[in-house]
Amino acid sequence: MAQHFLLSARAKSLSLASVFTMKDADAEMTFRKIRWHETEGEPVCPHCGGADAYDCRRLKGAPRFRCRACGKDFSITSGTLFASHKLPLRCYLAAIAIFCNEVKGKSALALSRDLDISYKCAFVLLHKLREAMAAELKGRVVGGEGKIAEVDGGYFGGYVKPANYRENRRDRRLLRNQTGKRRVVVVVRERGGNTIPAVFKSEASAMNFLRSRVAPGTILNADEAGSWEELHKRFEVRRINHEEAYSMDGASTNWAEEFFSRMRRAEIGHHHHIAGAYLLRYAQEASWREDNRRKANGEQVSHVAGLAMANKPSVDFTGYWQRHIRTEERA
Ligand SMILES: [Zn+2]
Repeated sequence: MAQHFLLSARAKSLSLASVFTMKDADAEMTFRKIRWHETEGEPVCPHCGGADAYDCRRLKGAPRFRCRACGKDFSITSGTLFASHKLPLRCYLAAIAIFCNEVKGKSALALSRDLDISYKCAFVLLHKLREAMAAELKGRVVGGEGKIAEVDGGYFGGYVKPANYRENRRDRRLLRNQTGKRRVVVVVRERGGNTIPAVFKSEASAMNFLRSRVAPGTILNADEAGSWEELHKRFEVRRINHEEAYSMDGASTNWAEEFFSRMRRAEIGHHHHIAGAYLLRYAQEASWREDNRRKANGEQVSHVAGLAMANKPSVDFTGYWQRHIRTEERA
């Protein structure tokens, strides 16, 4: 049997040990090369775009540059997702490495213990990394003429705990006994290609999303749920009845199920509760992990660091404080 990718030497190109033995100057240079890759690490002013800046380090050693054109100061992370960072750069690299190495996800509590940072700091940092991963999904379209994609939905959140005494228990299947917070993550995944998730109140509300994100001519695969009937109007759709088989005559939703398997394991094993405003972010993380699962971990770390450095400051978080956000029904 072929060796599992994660067991192969090819999967391991960066160790946490090597990140922790990095000198400050090395960590700085790593981030400079990721941020200003066109100039091979030479600083470019984020205010005016000027390429002539000199070292203007703070007294305590924090790296800063001053632009000769506009006279403004900037740091390696100014104007990026890590703007106004408070931890040493090495710590961010370590956090990204830990996050990438955990293939099902990483809990903020565990990261706070790994790096001896507060839970809140770890929570915000991990969400910024998810935001970076999500940047890759913006405007993505899957499929195309003759290509095959799969669509499926998975429900998250709105758990109602049964009461202790039997006489106090209510029928949780009835709408009036539910919280109304349950949402469905709808995913469309091209076979051998990329994944796009989105969050809705019901599978039937996902039609506009699917119409705009699946290229015409794509052959879709879906299960027997009535909510997918609408898809037949626009696409050739193969249906698979899971009561009969998981795969039959080429029809299956196993690629989509694989995504949900990863996300469900992240929910059960790491986060315990994935719901509300952040549900989409967890779905985007799972989708990034699926699409990049065959990359070596060193490559994954530079990829995520690159996305974070190319991203504007966080839309979900400013500094350490949470803005009002609404990620539902947003893709
Ligand atoms: Zn400037």
